[in-house]
Amino acid sequence: MHFFHYRDGRLCCEDADLAALADQHGTPLYVYSAGTIRDHYRRLSTALAGIDHLICYAVKANSNAAVLDLLAREGAGFDIVSGGELFRVLRAGGRADRCTFAGVGKTRSEIERALAAGVKSFNVESEGELERISEVARAHGAEAPFAVRANPDVAAGGHKYISTGKSENKFGVAHEDVPRLYARAASLGGLRPVGVQMHIGSQITEAGPFALAVERMLPLVGRLQREHGIGFFSIGGGVGIAYHHSLASGAEEWWGVRDQPGLTLAGYAASVAPLLRPLGLTILLEPGRLLVGNAGVLLTRVLYRKESPAKKFVIVDAGMNDLIRPALYSGWHEIVPARQPAADAPRETADVVGPVCESGDFLAQNRELPAAAPGDLLAVMSAGAYGFAMASTYNSRPLAAEVLVDGDRVDLVRERQDEEELVRGERIPPR
Ligand SMILES: *Cc1c(COP(=O)(O)O)cnc(C)c1O
Repeated sequence: MHFFHYRDGRLCCEDADLAALADQHGTPLYVYSAGTIRDHYRRLSTALAGIDHLICYAVKANSNAAVLDLLAREGAGFDIVSGGELFRVLRAGGRADRCTFAGVGKTRSEIERALAAGVKSFNVESEGELERISEVARAHGAEAPFAVRANPDVAAGGHKYISTGKSENKFGVAHEDVPRLYARAASLGGLRPVGVQMHIGSQITEAGPFALAVERMLPLVGRLQREHGIGFFSIGGGVGIAYHHSLASGAEEWWGVRDQPGLTLAGYAASVAPLLRPLGLTILLEPGRLLVGNAGVLLTRVLYRKESPAKKFVIVDAGMNDLIRPALYSGWHEIVPARQPAADAPRETADVVGPVCESGDFLAQNRELPAAAPGDLLAVMSAGAYGFAMASTYNSRPLAAEVLVDGDRVDLVRERQDEEELVRGERIPPR
């Protein structure tokens, strides 16, 4: 569910009129709903009431300082994948002792910084990394808390690039090999086993794979609990959201994909909670998309229309540099006009494309939409996760601005990048 809706024919985010925001701040513009993020966080926490748990928001989905601040105030922990994300979390008031540090390629300096900050856990993805963390910790006379990321070999995820829990993916340590790593850690020294982790993929829209992966992990988790006294089991993130959702039913709790029963938060919790409760461990969750995906839109203005013999094109001012999901993962985003069209307004099938010089630069292809004219404002829905966070300045296009709406309060939470910033740090060698 989300707090975007038409009110008197104008698309609003909570109490803010999106057209007014676009006039004030320009386009492309990301707009986030604080109420939606908070609501998602609280619902997830409520669905797990009765189980000792900590929600560690996956920062990579949307790392804007205002989003991190909002979640830190809710009591969230954070799942980070780089020194840069650690810096962001601490700067936004997040607590290091609620941060889990994931990722297959942690550098020595990142490990040193995370250790000094006092993260809750290094989520280890290989034996080499375990050795490196041990070495850094011993050099500092410290003990690094760690959890091994186990690969449960379960197929899941909406696209091959976002499936992570199969044995052919680069992530995690083969299930069978995990106990050996805990034994090795004990002999290496400088390491304290605190948990075990898994994460099977992203945009998973059914409960089955989660329950299957947890079930496969249970014997291992029990063994690590007995032999190494671990305190938490992180079941990762990956809960999918509705990308196809009509605004008319925007108030519904509807996380799945159109025409499918869909995965509700309650359904997700109900599928894993009975397996997890008997463990008596703290359960960590690492949702990214689930918390922020449907809490953001990308506003873009129509620049031109163009027709070729084969196609109609609606050319807009946001491109793949602003939102790469359609190009990278064949991501599907609903696109709606900021002015509610009349029920009998003409519709057309068109490609919605950006200004970037790439054929992959599209926001939608062969999409049936209300006919759009130059100057019209469109909202690309469900753009709160992996939207701005994956933006680049390709084609020397400055990064978009970001706005956070909270009820009737509107804050610009990131200024639009200007051209001086675009070239900051670049030098022409003296001659
Ligand atoms: C990306 C990632 C997540 C978040 O995935 P979502 O699909 O956004 O929930 C959680 N944990 C790890 C280890 C990740 O890499």
